[in-house]
Amino acid sequence: MVERAEVVVVGAGLAGLAAARTLQGAGLHVLVCEAGDDIGGRVRTDVVDGFRLDRGFQVLLPAYPAVREMVDVAELRLQHFTRGVVADGQALAPPWRHRSALRDLLAFGAGRPRDVAALLAMSARDVLAPARRLKAGGDSTIAEDLARRGVSARTVDEVMRPFLAGVFLDRPLRTSARAFHLVWRSFLRGGGALPASGMGTLPHLLARDLMPGTVRCGVRVTGISGDGVTTDRGEVRAKAVVVAAPEVLLGVPEPDWHAVTTYYYRTSGRPPLRQPTLLTDSGELLVNTAVISAVAPGYAPPGQTLVAASVPERCDTGNELEPHVRTTLAQVYDTSTTDWELVETYAIARALPVMPAGHPLRQPVRLAPGRYVCGDHRDTSSIQGALVSGRRAAAAVLADLHSRP
Ligand SMILES: Cc1cc2nc3c(=O)[nH]c(=O)nc-3n(C[C@H](O)[C@H](O)[C@H](O)COP(=O)(O)OP(=O)(O)OC[C@H]3O[C@@H](n4cnc5c(N)ncnc54)[C@H](O)[C@@H]3O)c2cc1C
Repeated sequence: MVERAEVVVVGAGLAGLAAARTLQGAGLHVLVCEAGDDIGGRVRTDVVDGFRLDRGFQVLLPAYPAVREMVDVAELRLQHFTRGVVADGQALAPPWRHRSALRDLLAFGAGRPRDVAALLAMSARDVLAPARRLKAGGDSTIAEDLARRGVSARTVDEVMRPFLAGVFLDRPLRTSARAFHLVWRSFLRGGGALPASGMGTLPHLLARDLMPGTVRCGVRVTGISGDGVTTDRGEVRAKAVVVAAPEVLLGVPEPDWHAVTTYYYRTSGRPPLRQPTLLTDSGELLVNTAVISAVAPGYAPPGQTLVAASVPERCDTGNELEPHVRTTLAQVYDTSTTDWELVETYAIARALPVMPAGHPLRQPVRLAPGRYVCGDHRDTSSIQGALVSGRRAAAAVLADLHSRP
């Protein structure tokens, strides 16, 4: 079967949806082909035994500018984590939020005042400086950047690495410091949150404004031709093709990836923690964990408790690390975990594109006349980066189509 559209978008992840909305908003006839059985790509929520399980533990930062611009944040019904993190049992949060956070910081800083001064100076700059200042200048790895700012190796190993390894899925902290400061800024400005009904709410809100029939799920694009795409169902003829699927980067080398494995547990008895707090462990696995049902009660059936634990840079398809994770969780929550039930494991090999030091924060989205590419690998490896890249690709399509005679 041959279909026609002005623009065909390959992939209905956040980038593809952002591109489709922008193009359709400009009056173009758009068709989105999505290989999966639903939209969202890496941001999807499964329902298993009444639990809502995001496909890998993730956090929405309400301060991401693109999220605020593209959806009505109130409709996400965000459930917030407590600000800050508990690293190896030590609570740390921005001291300007609560008096208790200031107390915690003073206790932490008693033995390492220079580290606290360095982290406060860095955080003040990241919150207050214009974003363009954070993006400008040279780049280094996060590890080098923290050392240059005077943060000791001990504080990096005990606090910063366990937390940042969970964010960037990068244990040695080789990620671009420029990208880190932008994410750190968003964490400090708005904290982290989960939509009440799961992260999958975000793509569905993005898609809601698209005209019915715009997105075709279960349609895999198999090739790009001179005048459109071929799919496993037929052909779509179009003036422009926007590739929003990292697996089909025609002409662009596929990015390197960081992996992650998330284990979801149903606990027995009382919740191991009632606070909606992110906890990290500086042991060998660098586990980061939260009682998800304490953050967003709708993730678990009434009276039940859901715990997520993620191990960065491991793709544990055989659940070989699970006993080790369970032991770590017993230490982190100071409780027995032997009768916790493993609900599901998500072992994700392609979770985040690697962003090494020197990584350009914006990469070209125009490949050739009529061919465009978007996705988090074109901007920053994040929800923010995916949304921005989709809008940039759409803007390039519009500029090219409107400049045609
Ligand atoms: C476990 C995990 C945790 C994360 N945590 C965070 C976090 O806390 N905060 C944050 O900001 N970001 C986080 N991210 C990153 C964020 O989810 C991604 O940056 C973003 O979702 C990428 O969107 P995308 O549209 O670029 O790509 P994708 O979501 O990968 O979308 C690509 C789409 O293309 C489709 N597709 C592929 N091949 C074809 C084909 N041949 N034909 C048609 N369709 C095809 C795929 O099915 C998919 O739907 C996390 C990611 C993971 C996996």
